[in-house]
Amino acid sequence: MENDIPPFRIGFGYDTHRLVTGRKLMLGGVEIPFEKGLLGHSDADVLLHAVCDALLGALNLRDIGFHFPDTDPRYKNADSRLLLKDTFQLVKQKGYALVNMDATIIAEQPKINPHIPAMQQVIAPLLESRPDCISIKATTHERTDAVGQGESMIAQAVVLLYQRQNERT
Ligand code: MG
Repeated sequence: MENDIPPFRIGFGYDTHRLVTGRKLMLGGVEIPFEKGLLGHSDADVLLHAVCDALLGALNLRDIGFHFPDTDPRYKNADSRLLLKDTFQLVKQKGYALVNMDATIIAEQPKINPHIPAMQQVIAPLLESRPDCISIKATTHERTDAVGQGESMIAQAVVLLYQRQNERT
């Protein structure tokens, strides 16, 4: 039975952060000009955190808070690109590589779409992939709830991983 399992693993990640004044807005590893930024122990890049959790979830490796605890001063204002890079090293150590990822950012403002190509260019090399395998979409919450009132953002991501040929038994 074990050998019948196809060499693919899917993972899902979800994250949310509050939007506050006095912080720069980092999304998908890209600094976006805006009057508010996301609040968190690290740079609070909600998209990259969701991608980290998707990668970890795919391999049943717990979650981002377990690997990069917000009680650890090393991660104060941490660049989430480095957290994603470290997370992908765990994926590689397990013998897996990325097929593709697909993510949605939910934010009322600012406009996300103009920044998506830059995010793809940042994320693809961190996952040793290509920009056309890194799908990022954006939507709003139609002015309902906290996201819709501009108080927070949400990101969701799924990844598909494949086991490298030489790791298969
Ligand atoms: Mg987070």
